[in-house]
Amino acid sequence: MFKFLKRLRGKKEEPQLQPEAVATEVVPEPVVEAPVSPPEPATEVPASVTATDPEPEKGIDPEPVFKTPIEAVVEPAGEPEPPKEAEPKAEVVEVELPKRSLSDGIRSLFSSNVDIEDLEDILLLADFGVEASVEITESLRKAASKAGATSDAELRLLLKELLVEKLHRDDLQLNLSDGKLPYVFLVVGVNGAGKTTTIGKLAKWLRDGEWEVVLGAADTFRAAAVDQLATWAERSGAGIVRPERDGQDPASVAYQTVELAISNDADIAIVDTAGRLQNKKDLMDELGKIRRAVEKQAQINEVLLVIDATTGQNAINQAKAFTEVAEVTGIVMTKLDGTAKGGIVYTIQQQLNLPVKLVGVGEGVNDFAFFSAEEFANGLVARKAGN
Ligand code: GDP
Ligand code: MG
Repeated sequence: MFKFLKRLRGKKEEPQLQPEAVATEVVPEPVVEAPVSPPEPATEVPASVTATDPEPEKGIDPEPVFKTPIEAVVEPAGEPEPPKEAEPKAEVVEVELPKRSLSDGIRSLFSSNVDIEDLEDILLLADFGVEASVEITESLRKAASKAGATSDAELRLLLKELLVEKLHRDDLQLNLSDGKLPYVFLVVGVNGAGKTTTIGKLAKWLRDGEWEVVLGAADTFRAAAVDQLATWAERSGAGIVRPERDGQDPASVAYQTVELAISNDADIAIVDTAGRLQNKKDLMDELGKIRRAVEKQAQINEVLLVIDATTGQNAINQAKAFTEVAEVTGIVMTKLDGTAKGGIVYTIQQQLNLPVKLVGVGEGVNDFAFFSAEEFANGLVARKAGN
């Protein structure tokens, strides 16, 4: 079960039924927006922020555990506040965030009964790579013969166990537990991989758990990219730092994002970055600069590399380029919905020796999940209509 640490607000206000959205672009620099349409007010507000996981049924997007009116992240201050000194900080508490289920978004490997003779080809087609495809098939053959398993259901179960063994790692959790706030995530990857969408989903999920979230639009080269992030911020009730002009140095936006997160006592800052895979040196310079800007004020908890699962072997090459320069701590694998290439998760973990921490299984705000070997393997071997 996931346990995360966040700051318990010192002064927790009574829930208001119609919280006012405040502070729309009132702070001179950086331009900060407050949420416009807050989530529904709470039916029940916990006295302390300790969630209980509803353990939703598979495939049903759970309703967020928390539904309290949001507080605007940014106060409508006329003057920029001086940096806060070591005043007593609010208590840091353990929370569980809403669970997201994964297996129903994953396409099964099998359109008919499991047949060991076909398995190697099926795994190859699903991007497991030659070595793993041969290995898994052989292991299944042995396990089936040992257990006397012949039925489709028995074979599926054995195969699932083999896949779980291959896919599981001990470092699949997001780093949200050291209690040193604000947490800072950088999100990197090529254009179109799903960075901004993933940030939007994460922001909404964290807001559902009552986290204060600040997003940074450090993909400053395209106004549309900034607007896209702003839309997600608005939807989720996160704060956002936008560049003051097109092409502004991404590192300065990243800096301001963390600065705002600190001055607002936010729990997390998530920085979106540009995805141009120019030459390696430019990429390294840009990401290095962003890192340094952030690290002047806070630690970086995660550098998430977003990879589009439908790009196959190409994805692995891209990923390698980023891991060489970006100190990546985890992979987000997007667009696993509908793809028959689920094996890419295994291949990426193997080849990059990095955990796949999150997966995207659709374009909707709830269409993501923490990677779970168990759920993923379930999805791959499931007997489902429409696969
Ligand atoms: P970015 O350039 O890396 O920021 O990519 P975007 O977040 O703009 O996403 C590019 C496209 O991929 C958009 O149309 C998204 O809706 C879509 N997308 C992102 N994640 C997923 C996913 O998990 N599944 C599907 N089907 N589409 C996704
Ligand atoms: Mg983007």
